Amino acid sequence: MAISIPADLTIVTLRSDGRELAQRWTAAYATSALQQASDLLKSRANIEFPRASCEQVVEEMPTGAAPDTVDEAGYHFLTAAHKAGNGVRVLLVDQVSRAELGGQSRQQTRVCLIAYGSDLGATSRMMAHELGHLLALPHVDSGRRWGPGQENQIAAWMRNLMYSGALNPAAELTQTQVQAARSSPLARRFGGR
Ligand SMILES: [Zn+2]
Repeated sequence: MAISIPADLTIVTLRSDGRELAQRWTAAYATSALQQASDLLKSRANIEFPRASCEQVVEEMPTGAAPDTVDEAGYHFLTAAHKAGNGVRVLLVDQVSRAELGGQSRQQTRVCLIAYGSDLGATSRMMAHELGHLLALPHVDSGRRWGPGQENQIAAWMRNLMYSGALNPAAELTQTQVQAARSSPLARRFGGR
């Protein structure tokens, strides 16, 4: 049975020195990216993320955080200011200081953050990857050693949606990952087991 987890979209424009900085996300583009990410996860794990809402906000980063991009401190500020509702919240920002902010806290907050990308397919896969983290999936290649004789294993990791590097369009999930995602705390809130 499909697990359906509502997703709230929040487009965050930064303000610095009294003026708003660039923001390339639009509500239409964010909705398209979520739709494609949801379609991907539905086809792989039968978990979908229908859009519950889409809002646009302007935020000034706090002292100690970078003012013109979102860094780790900025991420924690934003997740405190824009908590998840019933399901998950996806924060859409123009740029980040490094990919994948939030680390382990993402699963507890049910909030992930995506930087703008002009390629809808690649951006949707990144969103699906981040939603995968909210579903308790770690990187498929984390803590693994890369060495000779592992070419097939490495090639499989690189085709996986939860690979730590650039995501392949194949965006595969193994049966073990599907079971883990469908029995994650987040999925169980919505009927997973
Ligand atoms: Zn990741």
